[in-house]
Amino acid sequence: MADAQTAFHAAEALLPDGWAHDVRISVADGMVVRIETDAAPQATDQRLAILLPGMPNLHSHAFQRGMAGLAETRGRGDDDFWGWREVMYRFVARLTPDHLYAIAALAYAEMLEAGFTRVGEFHYLHHDRDGAAFADPAEMSAAIAAAAGEAGIALTHLPVFYAHAGFGGTAPGAGQRRFVHDLDGFARLMERLRDTLATLPDAVLGLAPHSLRAVTPEELASLVPLTGGPIHIHVAEQVREVADCLAWSGQRPVEWLLAKLPVDRRWCFVHATHMTPAETAEMAARGVVAGLCPITEANLGDGLFPAADFLAAGGRWGIGSDSNVLIDMAEELRLFEYGQRLATRSRTVLAPPGASCGATLFAGALAGGAQALGASAGLAIGAPADFVTLDPDHPSLAGRAGDALLDGLIFAARRGAVDGVWRRGGQVVAQGRHVDRARNVARYRAALAEIIE
Ligand code: ZN
Repeated sequence: MADAQTAFHAAEALLPDGWAHDVRISVADGMVVRIETDAAPQATDQRLAILLPGMPNLHSHAFQRGMAGLAETRGRGDDDFWGWREVMYRFVARLTPDHLYAIAALAYAEMLEAGFTRVGEFHYLHHDRDGAAFADPAEMSAAIAAAAGEAGIALTHLPVFYAHAGFGGTAPGAGQRRFVHDLDGFARLMERLRDTLATLPDAVLGLAPHSLRAVTPEELASLVPLTGGPIHIHVAEQVREVADCLAWSGQRPVEWLLAKLPVDRRWCFVHATHMTPAETAEMAARGVVAGLCPITEANLGDGLFPAADFLAAGGRWGIGSDSNVLIDMAEELRLFEYGQRLATRSRTVLAPPGASCGATLFAGALAGGAQALGASAGLAIGAPADFVTLDPDHPSLAGRAGDALLDGLIFAARRGAVDGVWRRGGQVVAQGRHVDRARNVARYRAALAEIIE
């Protein structure tokens, strides 16, 4: 992407220690090799105004971008997550590897446009349409990796182990046949993925037991040693899931995981919406990242995460676009805070006294997202040169500096404040648009025409 050696000069930049002025960043082979502050620009520098580190998107199901907005017609009775899941199963039944590639490439381009520079792909669509394994067990993962490589987003790949329809090891249903593995098959997939991801810069391989519904305790114990990387699991998203877990084990899902497994900082509990105060405190103490997906959780009617208690206990968290019904980094952060405001009838709930809410949200999601994806956080020597610029002429940023820029970005600006995005020092978004947007959209539209007849 980038030339072997290049340098950028930003009037203002958010560095790991805070805002700095006249920041010169030297990049070699895609990596940051030098950062100078209060430095004069040099003639060959690329001149930038307001520079932020790229944000990790810790939870995505890329293919679901293709069904965004298709599950908004009300059925006969009450509509909830389980009704949405039936629509998703019908959509997923038709996808080929080429369709997945086309949809994921657009989703990843849109993530970059939103200011995300790494995605955690929680990938459970493994097999062919009839449920048979592909000759290459990583065929669908390869489509994800190719889409990430083409769009230019860093990938933390989280292949999902999925074996059962419900608690207690019940047999999977027909709608789940493209997802399921036995342990030997999953171990072969993990082995193959080391090759599949080998040529993708900065790729990280973890794994993801889908949920306590889909995996038995014995299977979980066998999965953990298969990776030294991140481990993600959907947990406590739905009240029915909590009730079913209690009926099965006598414990709630988060309580069960914390009691039975060596859960630590490598783990990300995705959603963790329904927790008691004791679960909340213990999850924070163990250093587990809460994978929060506020737009999707609102869309699915999941509920609200106990954020104030979790943050007060020092809990780590990040944001994910999950169903990709709407891909927008600033809106994820805004909705996270606004949900808490509505629930508590107060303001600036997630910021400590005296602190900017926008800056607190941005820093929290950056650090927790990087931890959850096994990546470095922020602009630092030795890290990939992944960064975002804001449009200094955007009206919602006028007259702002430092943390007030983040408050403007998150609470006041519509899309358009994110101006440029660079990955490994190469520009992938200019004037708010991915450099390959037209081609991505055309290919996506052709795929959707085949899938939705
Ligand atoms: Zn999910």
